[in-house]
Amino acid sequence: MFKSARIKLTIYYLVIIMIISGVFSLFIYTRVNFQLKRSLTNIERRFNTERVPPPLHSLLDQDLKNAQKSLLFLLIYTNGVILFFSATAGYFLAGKTLKPIEKAMKKQKTFIADASHELRTPLTALKTSMEVDLRTKKLSKQTKEILKSNLSDVNNLNSLTNNLLRLAKQDDNSNNLKLKTTKIADVVNKALKSIDPLAKQKKIKVRISPEPKNQTVRGDSDLLTELLIILLDNAIKYTPKKGSVLVATQTTKKYLILKIKDTGIGISKQHIPHIFDRFYRVDVSRSKQMGFGLGLSLAKKIITQHQGSISVKSEIRHGSTFTLRLPLS
Ligand code: ADP
Repeated sequence: MFKSARIKLTIYYLVIIMIISGVFSLFIYTRVNFQLKRSLTNIERRFNTERVPPPLHSLLDQDLKNAQKSLLFLLIYTNGVILFFSATAGYFLAGKTLKPIEKAMKKQKTFIADASHELRTPLTALKTSMEVDLRTKKLSKQTKEILKSNLSDVNNLNSLTNNLLRLAKQDDNSNNLKLKTTKIADVVNKALKSIDPLAKQKKIKVRISPEPKNQTVRGDSDLLTELLIILLDNAIKYTPKKGSVLVATQTTKKYLILKIKDTGIGISKQHIPHIFDRFYRVDVSRSKQMGFGLGLSLAKKIITQHQGSISVKSEIRHGSTFTLRLPLS
C-alpha cells in the first residue's frame, strides 16, 4: 500500500515541478527575447535619428546595463513566484503524504483501544471466578498453587489491557485535557492507599517526608494519581522484601518537586535512556517481576500533558529515585 502511494506521490511531485519549471522557462524565454528585441530596436532608432551617431561601444554599454537591470528584476520576481508555488505545492503534497499514515495510526489506536476493552470483561470474570475458587477449602495444595499462579497471570494480563487502554485514551485526549487546581496531598494519599496492600505483602515501609501541605498544581487529579501509582508500584515491585520507599515533596518558586526513592535493585546507566519507551523492560530475569514495559511510558505521557518533567537517578543494588517536577498553580 505504501509502495504504490510512494510511487504515486513521486509522480505527482514530478508533474508539478515539471509544470512549474516549464511555465517559468517559457516566461523567462519570452521576456528575455522581448528585452533583446527592444534593445536592438533602441540601438537602431538612436543610430538612425542622431545626427552624429555615438560610438557603437557606448551604445552597447548603455543597452547592456538596461538589459542586465531588467533581467535581474525578472529573475528575482520569477524566483519569488516559484518559491510561492513550490511552497503551496509542497504543503498540499505533505498533507496528501501524511493522510494515509494518519489514517493507519488512527485505525491502529482504535484497534488497540477496542481489543483492550473487549479483553477486560472476560479477564475480570476469570479473575473473580479464580478468586472464588481459591476460597474453596476442598482444593488440594497443588491445585491451589496452580490457581494462584494462574490468577497472577490473569492479573498481569489485566494490567496490560488497562495500560494499553489508558495509553490509547491518552493519545486521543492529549489535546483536550481539562486541568484544574489540584491539591497534591490528596493525590499522594489516594496513591498511597492504592499501593498499600502490595507494600504490606512485601513488608515494605512507605514513608512520606516532608509531607505535602497545601500545595496545589494545575492538573487532572485522576491522571496524577495514576502517575504516582505507577511510580510507587514500580518502587515496591523492584525493591526486595523489607526494603523501604520514601515519598518526598519539595517546592521551589514555580514547581512542586515529588521524589519517589526506593532501596531496590536499581537500573544500570545504559538502560536509563530507554525505560520510558513503550514495551521496554530491563533484563527481565534479574527482577523476576512480571510487567510489560508500559507503566513508565504512560507516566511520561501524563507528566508531559501537565507541562512537567520526570527524571531518574539510580545505582545498581542501591536503589532508584524518580523525580517529578510539576508547575505550581
Ligand atoms: P514494567 O514495570 O511493567 O516492566 P515500566 O515501564 O514501568 O514497565 O518500567 C520499565 C522498566 O524500568 C522495568 O522493566 C524495570 O526494569 C525498570 N524500572 C522501573 N522502575 C524501577 C525501579 N523503581 N527500580 C528498578 N527498576 C525499575
